Amino acid sequence: MDDLKFGTRNKRGDWAPNQPAETAPLFAFPPRLMAILKWLPHYFFPWNAIFAASAIAYWALVIPSMETMQTLGIGWAAWLYAVNAICVLLFYGAFEVHLYVLKRQENRFKYNGKFPSEQKNKAFWFERQNVDNMLRTFLSGVVIWTAVEVGMLWAYANGYAPWLSFAERPWTIAAVALVVPIIHEFHFFCIHRLIHTPFLYKWVHSVHHNSVNPSPWSSLSMHPVEHLLYLGTALYHLILPSNPILMLYQLHYAGFGAIPGHVGFDKVEIGGDKLIDSHAYAHYLHHKYFEVNYGDALIPLDKWFGTWHDGSAEGEAQMQARYRRRKEKLAARKTRMEVTGAAE
Ligand SMILES: [Zn+2]
Ligand SMILES: [Zn+2]
Repeated sequence: MDDLKFGTRNKRGDWAPNQPAETAPLFAFPPRLMAILKWLPHYFFPWNAIFAASAIAYWALVIPSMETMQTLGIGWAAWLYAVNAICVLLFYGAFEVHLYVLKRQENRFKYNGKFPSEQKNKAFWFERQNVDNMLRTFLSGVVIWTAVEVGMLWAYANGYAPWLSFAERPWTIAAVALVVPIIHEFHFFCIHRLIHTPFLYKWVHSVHHNSVNPSPWSSLSMHPVEHLLYLGTALYHLILPSNPILMLYQLHYAGFGAIPGHVGFDKVEIGGDKLIDSHAYAHYLHHKYFEVNYGDALIPLDKWFGTWHDGSAEGEAQMQARYRRRKEKLAARKTRMEVTGAAE
């Protein structure tokens, strides 16, 4: 597959798409009906459908009986940890092996021309991005994921969370299922913006940003506090008209859903001629420039707050202008303080 039909590669070997990143047309005003209809299949396939199907499969095959879950127990918690860990290993591992170990598509569609394994970096445990990222995923990420899951299932088993049956309220269930990704986007934007404040960035979020050139295992490579905030998105289902399957969908959307944004490739080649969009460009730019694209562009929150960068020269100029304004503001504040200090 010739990736230069879809984008350009610079001297460093970094590939960028011709088409700038776009926000979903869902919240555009005036409404763009045709654009929404064209975009709608991408809303479901393949990613959201995978996460929803995995929630149903968990409910059918993995989740213990309600009687068991009425009491918190190490046995069923350990079982859920084991299943989550195996599923993460298989799902994340599939991308890692395909794209980074066997390098089946070499650097075609790869945003950053370099592979993280080519460089050692002191920011990481054992100076290896992959080792660091995997350890953080399994020692903290999947542990906290399971803890949230256990807590929520225990709440359902004891009647502490609303539980609507599909037979009785099919439309409500369908509506909540449709907004699961929107809840995620809203929640992610808010907590992400929060952990970019100086104190929390330094002590919490900088761990995730160590991966300037993200790869699949970077997806859940976070500080435990960020894991808790990020995976805490399932807690909305304590008050929403929902049920355990939708709660699992919300959790899987966060847990498994972190991966498309971090694969580092714009498109994944499947077979000889099929391409799957990762929709990763906006989040790749976040890892590259840090203070743009706090959300994943499903809701145009970054546009509304002036932090959107679509990867184009225009987006770059807007970002630089914003940085310049901030620098001027800080300099003016410093001068003001110096003047006041001198006057005292
Ligand atoms: Zn990230
Ligand atoms: Zn960030």
